Amino acid sequence: MINGQRWQVGFGYTGKTRGVVDDGVCRYHSRRIVVHGAHNGRYTSLEETVIHEVAHAAFPQIEEGAIDHMAQVAAKILFKMRAAEPYK
Ligand SMILES: [Zn+2]
Repeated sequence: MINGQRWQVGFGYTGKTRGVVDDGVCRYHSRRIVVHGAHNGRYTSLEETVIHEVAHAAFPQIEEGAIDHMAQVAAKILFKMRAAEPYK
């Protein structure tokens, strides 16, 4: 649930931006977040992609640069915390 509405999240075809396949897409009107089926985490981790698209869904008025920055920071912190987890 995001902002009181049920969203679907899954893998699929994301489309392209300026000729480059997108890692993820937030389809606001159909309330679907799609992560590219062949997402390999080479450029962006799966965590960062999901955080990024969920942020678009939750805050549609926030511009791309701010979403991108927040998702990068959150994913980096998650990565570091996972590596340092005391009880795994
Ligand atoms: Zn975006």
